[in-house]
Amino acid sequence: MSEVFDIAIVGGGMVGASLGVALGGLGARIALIEAIPHDSALQPSFDERTTALSNGSRRILETLGVWPSVSSAATPIAKIHVSDRGHFGFARVDAAEQGLAAMGFVVPNRALGAALWPLLAADPNVRVFCPAEVVRVDAAEAAVELQVSQAPAESVAIRARLVVAADGVQSAVRSAFGVDAQVRDYGQTAVVTTVLPQRFHDYVAYERFTETGPLALLPLADGRCTLVLTLKPDMAEAALAWSDGEFLAEVQRRFGFRLGRFLKVGRRVPYPLALSQARRTSAGRCVIVGNAAQGLHPVAGMGFNLGLRDVASLAELIAEHRAAGRTDDGDPRLLAEYDAWRAADRRGIIGFTDGLVRTFSNPLGAVQRLRNLGLLAFDLLPPAKTALSRLSTGAAGRVPKLARGVALR
Ligand SMILES: Cc1cc2nc3c(=O)[nH]c(=O)nc-3n(C[C@H](O)[C@H](O)[C@H](O)COP(=O)(O)OP(=O)(O)OC[C@H]3O[C@@H](n4cnc5c(N)ncnc54)[C@H](O)[C@@H]3O)c2cc1C
Repeated sequence: MSEVFDIAIVGGGMVGASLGVALGGLGARIALIEAIPHDSALQPSFDERTTALSNGSRRILETLGVWPSVSSAATPIAKIHVSDRGHFGFARVDAAEQGLAAMGFVVPNRALGAALWPLLAADPNVRVFCPAEVVRVDAAEAAVELQVSQAPAESVAIRARLVVAADGVQSAVRSAFGVDAQVRDYGQTAVVTTVLPQRFHDYVAYERFTETGPLALLPLADGRCTLVLTLKPDMAEAALAWSDGEFLAEVQRRFGFRLGRFLKVGRRVPYPLALSQARRTSAGRCVIVGNAAQGLHPVAGMGFNLGLRDVASLAELIAEHRAAGRTDDGDPRLLAEYDAWRAADRRGIIGFTDGLVRTFSNPLGAVQRLRNLGLLAFDLLPPAKTALSRLSTGAAGRVPKLARGVALR
């Protein structure tokens, strides 16, 4: 016997959990299946990283009622400073110049998990299966059947009209529907940690391009910064074994002394980097969201922001279809609308992020000169900055209601 739901979300990481919250109250019965509890040390989504949220993402979280529990852990970004190590070009984007209170916010991933999961647990329309893993997917024309394994040695069958693949870059659900992903290894590993600089960061986020890849520093409320240091894989492995002093000396060499000396460093965690792009965003009764649809280089901090717009768009379409009396959430018309809506935003952000990594990894002199001129031109050209602000807030194309502050119910 199967338990019957309207929608099954596989994966309760940053994107799946946000979708569960967005769909609650729309009249659909939701199952959310997650392998690892949000507060476990092994959770791969809600881990020690921090996420730079765009203003659009903040608005979505606000409209969903998640922001009040996140805001006390969020640090505003007043300015973004972009530079190229050893070259003259640099660019600044200032929130005040753009007429914004902040360019975005830095939020610990664990704070997001701690805000989203209690909302899921409290929602009578959402049934959470956790820890539980989807081990088999049978797609039929009228519904999808999922075999869910729960500890210890217990199994349950779930039947749903729509299944959402929110199970990350290695998505088994996406594969079960015959959708493969195009993967390109960047040959870079991000080493993520926190550092304490001598001088206060003044809420400035820094992005510095170096010969082995970008280095990002994101401000944290207590004066520390999250450091995302991109290195060649063999150097990253070595960097994990360096003493704190050796590691800080290398960061100092790459970043310079804009924030004075770096005094302390936290635990270092490596993330190998690749671009992963699903060939489609839906198939049969499956819709693919977040990292399962696209896994990006963290250079511009856009992966979750894009995934959250997947969530806001899908939830809006489901709300619209239900309001029109259509209760089959796996209706091919709904999925086709979803694919069409997400295509431009997805293409734009993937192209922008990938282009940034490629341009700044290119050692050729002409490209170097051009990219420095590009940075300077960008700094002198207010429309370019406004365009970037728009791109990163997802204000290009149709903006989801949740990102405009309009509730779906
Ligand atoms: C170093 C780094 C820094 C980043 N910084 C930023 C940033 O500043 N801003 C930004 O917007 N983005 C950032 N990102 C991107 C962001 O982390 C991802 O976009 C986000 O984690 C995607 O979430 P997700 O829920 O789609 O996938 P995931 O985080 O991969 O979560 C997938 C979930 O599915 C579960 N799961 C998998 N298989 C199954 C199964 N069979 N059954 C049940 N559950 C399953 C997993 O346990 C997991 O919880 C960064 C990424 C990296 C690597």
